[in-house]
Amino acid sequence: MNGPEITVGFAPGLALFLPHERRGAPSSLTTDGSSTLGHAVESLGVPLTEVGRLVVDGREVAASHIPAQGETVDVYEVERPQSVEGAPLRFLLDVHLGTLARRLRLLGVDAAYLSEDIGDPALATYSARDRRVLLSRDRGLLRRRELWAGAYVYSDRPEEQLRDVLGRFRPELRPWTRCTACNGTLTSVTKDDVAHLLEEGTRRTHEVFAQCTACERLYWSGAHHDKLEAIVAQALAMRAGSAAATADGEGGVHPAPDDVIAANSERVTAHLSADEATADIETGRQRQ
Ligand SMILES: [Zn+2]
Repeated sequence: MNGPEITVGFAPGLALFLPHERRGAPSSLTTDGSSTLGHAVESLGVPLTEVGRLVVDGREVAASHIPAQGETVDVYEVERPQSVEGAPLRFLLDVHLGTLARRLRLLGVDAAYLSEDIGDPALATYSARDRRVLLSRDRGLLRRRELWAGAYVYSDRPEEQLRDVLGRFRPELRPWTRCTACNGTLTSVTKDDVAHLLEEGTRRTHEVFAQCTACERLYWSGAHHDKLEAIVAQALAMRAGSAAATADGEGGVHPAPDDVIAANSERVTAHLSADEATADIETGRQRQ
């Protein structure tokens, strides 16, 4: 190829996407003279979802910029917190991120997840149709053109994944308001309403219940309560910390009022069936 030769340097946080020889110092790249800078960056393995500013010879350009001979390009990481314009912030998680999906739901974050693999094109289309930010560890998936918005999930450990997503997007947290199994919203129900659905032991030992408005699953304070409470407390503490660190406080804490959390946290915790969603949350294991 005899196209323009440019010099490209990447921010350290993007190194993991690059071939070894391109990590560290800027390196030269021969382009084809007609493809965009965005395409050139992607061709080196870096998903554009992870790229922030593109600076050519000190001037910021769009990904559609066509590189010219001798240009020096600096590729920066996406800024955190990242704002997503154009729709309420909500997510779609790929098939490998089931534990993360359930943890986000526990925190009240809208997190769609399909346990079956519907394939990359269908997922990308789903993201576009619903205007959901697709979360994935699959770079190929994040390169799909149909995608509305996407983000690479940097860790394979659920605790770190959660920190990553909460830190990056600062979603509003409303713990105990969403069904961890289906992402539906929860509503309070009286014991009388649901007594006929309960096993004897549960009926005897629990007084407060919530029900998913979508799948009708029942929730009550169960054996996993402490572990779930710990996940919630950690997320709220992290949010409070990041809000304090932000001078103007913008994008900070928007949890439900304390009294609501207190009331709900007793009311709404995972029930005691052999529900693998709950089991996954408890063990923190990632199902692959
Ligand atoms: Zn549900």
